[in-house]
Amino acid sequence: MAAIRIANLLKSGQPGDSVTLQGWVRTKRAQKSLCFINVNDGSCMGGLQIVADADLADYDAIMAQLSTGASVEIVGTVVESPAKGQRIEVKAEQITVFGGADETYPLQKKRHSFEFLRTLGHLRSRTNTLGAVFRVRNVAAQAVHQFFRDRAFMWVNTPILTASDCEGAGEMFTVTNLNLNQPPLVDNQAVDLAQDFFGKPAYLTVSGQLEAEIMAMAFTNVYTFGPTFRAENSNTSRHLAEFWMIEPEMAFCDLLGNMELAEEFLKYIFQTVLEQCADDMAFFNQRIDDSVLATADNIINNEFARITYTEAVDQLLKADKKFEFPVEWGIDLQSEHERYLAEALFQKPVIVTDYPAAIKAFYMRLNDDQKTVAAMDVLAPKVGEIIGGSQREERLDVLETRIGEAGLPLDAYWWYLDLRRYGTVPHAGFGLGFERLIQFMTGMTNIRDVIPFPRTPDNIEF
Ligand code: ATP
Ligand code: MN
Repeated sequence: MAAIRIANLLKSGQPGDSVTLQGWVRTKRAQKSLCFINVNDGSCMGGLQIVADADLADYDAIMAQLSTGASVEIVGTVVESPAKGQRIEVKAEQITVFGGADETYPLQKKRHSFEFLRTLGHLRSRTNTLGAVFRVRNVAAQAVHQFFRDRAFMWVNTPILTASDCEGAGEMFTVTNLNLNQPPLVDNQAVDLAQDFFGKPAYLTVSGQLEAEIMAMAFTNVYTFGPTFRAENSNTSRHLAEFWMIEPEMAFCDLLGNMELAEEFLKYIFQTVLEQCADDMAFFNQRIDDSVLATADNIINNEFARITYTEAVDQLLKADKKFEFPVEWGIDLQSEHERYLAEALFQKPVIVTDYPAAIKAFYMRLNDDQKTVAAMDVLAPKVGEIIGGSQREERLDVLETRIGEAGLPLDAYWWYLDLRRYGTVPHAGFGLGFERLIQFMTGMTNIRDVIPFPRTPDNIEF
């Protein structure tokens, strides 16, 4: 008999059903003549209660092997549960232990700190919280694809290995296959990168945007969803060296259309996760952050606030709050400013637009005031920046000037400039860090706990 997943069984199993199920033992409670075993297979938060009678064949031998962490297969019959809080349980007729787990198994019943669990990257997914996080992550990822498919966006795969540095969005990792102990040298000094694999410097991508623009100029509406890399030296709770980014890019679209898509997108992902991960979300609300459900409700049911950078600076100057980092027009907004806007001023997500050109990337479209660009950041309560986007500069001459002003070499961007030479159109897009979104949805405070295998400085064990 094929095994049934526990989530399905808990939902639709009926007393009398014969079932086979498999999973890992979370707890075992032995009484004189019977034993209660809680089994979890990752399909849902709640495990299934198994009741094993002492008259089961090989009862003592099985019980000796069957402890927290052991993997088991149970064949049995669904019965109504007399216990509170569960509709059904399974009366075991046959128990097979695939692998035991002795008392050194580190996930015994007591609660562990997330910090400790990070040292157990190979086991922590078996805990309630990490299990819930990764189920939410999966549902959110599927929802991302569904959202774009419903709107006829094409999913495009942009390269991970790249020679362009996308305006220095972050510190890049160099990719090489040179022998680092004995690299070829030019004149016995600098490393001769002409002899490297690609014949020139190569990196791990920090963003797929420039390539997404190429694809949008052929397919109109596209998006990327893939890993990006930044050699972030800062050890923060919001930065990873490897994270997943979602980057839609739309031809024939301006900043307003971009803002609308960003807002619809966040609402859709929240809605889908609330519907499909109700138990996990309730768990986060109860155990991690009691504002999780209210936040989701806030996102889904309210229009996001919109404010220009210039207005935001005025509001910050007026605020009866002393900021560590002084406010004046022209500064890059710091986390404390972003949080003031989203948490204190609006108490909901806020889209800040039209930032000073000097603090934003060269590809953002210059506004008529010649001082600001058509940029937008979506700031969320508690996490700060969650989305960064812009209308792109589609005018060849303006773009060339901006690249020059940024001190970048025009020839390296020849293909990017070609897009403005041949059939250029107004276009716009944004980038959203998938892990920031998961943090925002679940209330998890550290970004290392919302990706299965986090990469941060000095951390690449698992
Ligand atoms: P921050 O100021 O927080 O470092 P950024 O300005 O470098 O962000 P962008 O270059 O605009 O961010 O990248 C787009 C999105 O990617 C951000 O809005 C954020 O959600 C996410 N992001 C950026 N850097 C990281 C990182 N190191 N780890 C996880 N997510 C990130
Ligand atoms: Mn950054």
